Amino acid sequence: MKLYPKTVTAVFLKRPNRFLVVAKLQGQEVEAYLANPGRLLELLIPGCTLYLIPSPNPKAKQPWQAVAIEVEGEPVLLNTHQANHMAQWLINEGQVRELEGWRVLKREHKVGHSRFDLLLEKAGVQRLAEVKCVTLFSEKTAQFPDAPSKRAVKHLKELAQWAQQNPDAPKPLIIFLIQKKGLKQFLPDYHTDLEFAQTLLAVRPFLEILPLAVSLNIRMELSAKTELLPIPWEIIESEAKDKGSYLYLIKIDQPIEIPIGGLGVRGFPAGYYVYVGSAMNGVAKRLARHRLVRKKAHWHIDYLRRHAHHHHGLPILSTDQIECQLAQALDKLADLRFPSFGSSDCTCSSHLFGFFKDPLDLTAFWRLLFYFRTDRLF
Ligand SMILES: [Zn+2]
Repeated sequence: MKLYPKTVTAVFLKRPNRFLVVAKLQGQEVEAYLANPGRLLELLIPGCTLYLIPSPNPKAKQPWQAVAIEVEGEPVLLNTHQANHMAQWLINEGQVRELEGWRVLKREHKVGHSRFDLLLEKAGVQRLAEVKCVTLFSEKTAQFPDAPSKRAVKHLKELAQWAQQNPDAPKPLIIFLIQKKGLKQFLPDYHTDLEFAQTLLAVRPFLEILPLAVSLNIRMELSAKTELLPIPWEIIESEAKDKGSYLYLIKIDQPIEIPIGGLGVRGFPAGYYVYVGSAMNGVAKRLARHRLVRKKAHWHIDYLRRHAHHHHGLPILSTDQIECQLAQALDKLADLRFPSFGSSDCTCSSHLFGFFKDPLDLTAFWRLLFYFRTDRLF
């Protein structure tokens, strides 16, 4: 199935807000609408290739719509609205082996106050389905969501509730439509949205969960072949808990020289900083604490935090202590390190690293994060 009759490619420059991207198209800067509420931070790296279509709405503010992004030479769909359309076609064409004989009766089906993506039918029997568009991938693992999603949690609970009220009906479906082939497994991204992962675990008995990998070619044609990925439930059961390590990112605008507790006065050039910490009693609480500027300093990072902007907090939940391994991996990527900073209790040379460029714009930084978050477990 061809998703779009004609697309053009442009170079991604920036994303001023969630629904707007700026790209370079034939030497000109253009604005494009982005129909994806996710963070997409690891995909939208400046310089990457975007697929645009002319806006289908002549009154639209932006003349273009960004529909896909290139990852390893293949387009990954960004337009989440198209995911339902894709799922419908694959089911109706009989390309999802687990759903043979089912067909899509209706989209956007309302039950009470809830609305579900698809209503399926087979021999007079009906079945509800929700479709989630998955665009978060590490080297081996597809993950969802890429930003905390109360809405996705609500959908899971509503589907499970419906299943409990209708115990004789076929189990409602949740289809994770993974926009990339060749991955080994699917995991809810508990580092980013712990509530979603824990809810998925809780509703598992009531739903049929299908992580289905699909792919588009550069002509925006959806391949009829799908791959069903396994879910390593034992990892979610053991690891999806609010404990582990984290990276805390801050930004310093002007060079500073400040006292850092027992380390004395230290200099910090302008730039981006990544601090590695661990909080086996609660990563969420710790990151919230770092976000606030505190009068009383406890850790080395508290002294520096007073002079810096909060930039980003990235949890890496795990039952193992991996803080020092993380510090050693970051050491290889960073431009600067700060002897003894945050590493009084271990043998690492530093737990603080400086970058001249925003690490969130570095593919190698994301690769490191995803390795420690997920792929090291496989
Ligand atoms: Zn260490």
